[in-house]
Parts: sequence; C-alpha cells; structure tokens
Amino acid sequence: AEKIRIGIVGYGNLGRGVEISVSKNPDMELVGIFTRRAPEALSAYFDDTAVFAMNDLDQFRHEVDVLILCGGSKSDLPEQGPELAARFNTVDSFDTHARIPKYFETVDIPARAGKKTALISAGWDPGMFSINRLYGEALLPDGETYTFWGRGLSQGHSDAIRRIPGVAGGVQYTLPSETAIAQVRSGSRPELSTREKHVRECFVVLADGADAEKIRRTIVSMPHYFDEYDTTVNFISAEELAHDHQAMPHGGFVIRSGNTSDENAQVIEYRLALESNPEFTASVLVAYARATHRINQAGQYGAVTVLDVAPGLLSIKTPEQLRAELL
Ligand code: NDP
Repeated sequence: AEKIRIGIVGYGNLGRGVEISVSKNPDMELVGIFTRRAPEALSAYFDDTAVFAMNDLDQFRHEVDVLILCGGSKSDLPEQGPELAARFNTVDSFDTHARIPKYFETVDIPARAGKKTALISAGWDPGMFSINRLYGEALLPDGETYTFWGRGLSQGHSDAIRRIPGVAGGVQYTLPSETAIAQVRSGSRPELSTREKHVRECFVVLADGADAEKIRRTIVSMPHYFDEYDTTVNFISAEELAHDHQAMPHGGFVIRSGNTSDENAQVIEYRLALESNPEFTASVLVAYARATHRINQAGQYGAVTVLDVAPGLLSIKTPEQLRAELL
C-alpha cells in the first residue's frame, strides 16, 4: 500500500516529537519539515530529514497527504490553522480549552470550501483525556468526572519563580494530591477545591548571598501562582538543576466515579505517566494524522475533533485484524 505522506509545520519540541514518531509508523513517510525560520539554520533529529521554508509549502500540495501543525496555540495556530486547512488536510494540538469552539469554526469554513479535513485539538488534554471524560459521562450518567494533572513541569510557574530576585534558577512541578486521589478512587464522589486537588513542588537554586527562608516565603505566598496551594520549596545546586530537572515530564488522571444503583459505585480510571510531554503529544498527533487521511478519503470534509473519530481509524491494522485481535 502507498504510504501516508506527512509534512511537519513548525519545528519546536512538538515538531521534533512528530519527526521521531513518524519513523515508528511503517505506513507513513516524512516529506519534510516546514519552518518560518531559515531552513539551513535548523538541525533536524535525523540527518536525512528535509527542511523547507514555509513559503515553499504550496509546491508540495500534491506531495503531502496530511500536515501536522506543531506551532503554539497562543499565536501560531490561530493564524496557521485556518490558512493551511484551506489547502491541506491538517492535524493540530490547539489547547486553549475555552477558545476551541471558536477555533473549530475558523478552521471548518476554509476546510469545507477546499474539500479538506482538519482535525483540531488532538494531544492528551485536550485529546485522550477528553475522550476518557466522554466515555465516563456516557457510561455513568449519574456520576462525577475528576481530572488531575501531574507530576508535571509547569512552564508558567517555573518562570514566576525565576523572576524572584535572589533566585538563580528553578523549576516547578504540579502533583496530584495523594489524599484527593484516594478519596476519588474510593467512589465517595467528594467535592474537592482547587487547593485540595493539587500540590506544588519547587526546586530552586539560590543566587550568592540570597536569604533562603525569605525566598521560600515569597514563593509560597505568591498570589495566583502559589498562594492557593500547598507548596514545598527545595533548595538545590546549579549542578543538580542541570542534571535532574531538564526533562519535560507530565501526565495525570481522568477518573469517573458514578453509581449505577443506590447500592453500587463504579469507578473508571485513565492514567498517563509521561517522561516527555511533547513526544507523547506528538505520538497522538501522528495516529490522528492516519485517521484524518482516511476520513478525507471517505469524503468527509471540514473540521473534526477527537470526539468525532472512530477509534479503529487510528490503527495501522485493518478492521478485520482489529476484530480478530482486540475484540
Ligand atoms: P515550541 O515553542 O517549542 O514551538 C512552537 C513554534 O515556535 C515552532 O513550531 C517553531 O516554528 C517555533 N520555534 C521553536 N523553537 C524556536 C526557536 N529556537 N527559535 C525561534 N522559533 C522557534 O512549542 P512546543 O512544540 O513545546 O508546543 C507547541 C504547542 O503544543 C503548545 O503551544 C501547546 O499548545 C501544544 N500542546 C498541546 C498538548 C495537548 O495535550 N493538546 C500538550 C502539549 C503541547 P517555526 O519552525 O516555524 O519557527
């Protein structure tokens, strides 16, 4: 069979993850990376990956089956998503939850007009977590859904720590509260506040002569960022920061706790423990690129989300194989 031809738009953490992930899917091939920067300035993960300028993208209209958009949700995707969906099948990871309905509209119109399919907001949250929230609600209508994040590196909170005078470096991890998770797993359907659901853990390198206790107090009382949470602050050396805290771990849980009768509580749990957030997100996007290609070939045009895609379309296997092996 002919391979699905993938193009990557934008080469940051996610773009690099997609480059690697395509190599693990034998039914796909990478046409190349398209970047707004000078192509010769980028060094791809694999030596033989081609890098092109964004301006040359139109030459590849008949060479690419699906473009995976790896730009940022804040300013890249709102611009690139609608523009590229007019001319290519696309997959993206737009993750500004409150803006997804509006973003869907802006991509849907050009995609329909161009007979293209645009899968928006794939990844894990939104993405795999959204699907699991849906399964939970549909299967247990009398119930509550709980989403916990972490252990995960939070870029925004890490930046906030690094801006404090006397701090030479630092990172912040968000962790689900063990107590809260245990309560939810018990099936008791607790009402949990923001403070009760997550705790924050900081690793900080002090500048010469800085007052550790003063900095600890500044962090734990910082409005919006830390004051509503239980926060622990650990002071470490610059070497430890460089050695132990460079990865981008993340993950979390979606738990649905419901009752099918007065007597019986039922609990559904989906867990992700990710050593690399961007590499995992990229793997999800690549599987959805396969589905998007198939949906477009079946003549379904316009924007879709992960909630619209049948699970079998993600798989490299045929429906016959899936029936024999997974049912
Ligand atoms: P990056 O900041 O690493 O990359 C975003 C874009 O910035 C790239 O596409 C690239 O475009 C440009 N860029 C990257 N590195 C440089 C550089 N050194 N100098 C100049 N420009 C650069 O973002 P991520 O890849 O980490 O994340 C992308 C998005 O993925 C996030 O905004 C988030 O919305 C989404 N995401 C979604 C998740 C989900 O579960 N749905 C989970 C994780 C992330 P170009 O090559 O054209 O310059």
